[in-house]
Amino acid sequence: MLISIVVPCFDEEEIIGRFHARVTAELESLGAEFELVYVDDGSRDRTLPLLEEMAAADPRLCYVSFSRNFGKEAAMLAGLRHAAGDAVVIMDADLQHPPELLGRMLRLHGEGFDQVVARRTRKGDRVTRTLTARAYYRLINRLVDVELVDGVGDFRLLSRRTADAILELTEYNRFSKGIFAWVGFRTTTVEYDNAVREQGRSKWTLGKLLNYGLDGLLSFNNKPLRAALHLGLLLVSVAAAYAVWIVGAALVNGVDTPGYVTLLVTVIALAGVQMVMLGVVGEYVGRIYYEVKRRPHFLVKAANTSAPHHHGELVRR
Ligand code: UDP
Ligand code: MG
Repeated sequence: MLISIVVPCFDEEEIIGRFHARVTAELESLGAEFELVYVDDGSRDRTLPLLEEMAAADPRLCYVSFSRNFGKEAAMLAGLRHAAGDAVVIMDADLQHPPELLGRMLRLHGEGFDQVVARRTRKGDRVTRTLTARAYYRLINRLVDVELVDGVGDFRLLSRRTADAILELTEYNRFSKGIFAWVGFRTTTVEYDNAVREQGRSKWTLGKLLNYGLDGLLSFNNKPLRAALHLGLLLVSVAAAYAVWIVGAALVNGVDTPGYVTLLVTVIALAGVQMVMLGVVGEYVGRIYYEVKRRPHFLVKAANTSAPHHHGELVRR
């Protein structure tokens, strides 16, 4: 049985060597046959030269390097396409995904699970981050069809058929969390304590997180559109009731002009609501725009095509 480890890397020069050593040591101690597929996501530092050096020293390592930064989703896709293993594990390069978990994950896979998902506790996270995450997951699970779990990231083992199923989803806007949940199959979870990043910096900024959250809401179904429709209908009925009341009051008491504030607030509020709804529709149109362009998810600048995994890739595709 061959195990593929897929590792997206973006500016990971400080840690990639140690990552490789830790993971290979762990897999060797498990007595597994394995390959590592590194995807350099347009790093601006020495990540690619390091990968080239490492590949020269270790035939089990292969790498793909993008022409620029295409994002982690694209990097994971590229890694999955190149992985030939009977089981594929996706791992971050920053050692936040403990290699010690691999043994347990492989054992569970041996017991017949197609997806073994590593779930991190939120130990060491800032309280605000934990709370917003919890609120977000409560909201999003009400809004999307698939079940998204807090603390679950991209660290997971996929059986061959699960990996193949994911490769069948060729959508341009890739929200992995949703895609993994969408394909289904027999899934189980293993927990691990959150580790603080040892070196380098996380590439997540507040803005990126916000956008990621919105992606999650909008990538999976049209429920936000439905919600916009419902809100519109609600507002129309409220306005109708209010109109009846105003007209009634005018008939009974005669017309009195004050009401400037109510008028202004109503106009502004309604304009705001309309903008939001337009924004929701626009988001969907934007997604359609990207889908119909059918651009590739990434462009490859360099790869070590001599690595044995490529036979696997050619056979499978
Ligand atoms: N990564 C990537 N492309 C990007 C950003 C990140 O391939 O544009 C990789 C990065 O090298 C790391 C993993 O994705 O292996 C997770 O990134 P990071 O540690 O910055 O995210 P966090 O752990 O904070 O969620
Ligand atoms: Mg990280």
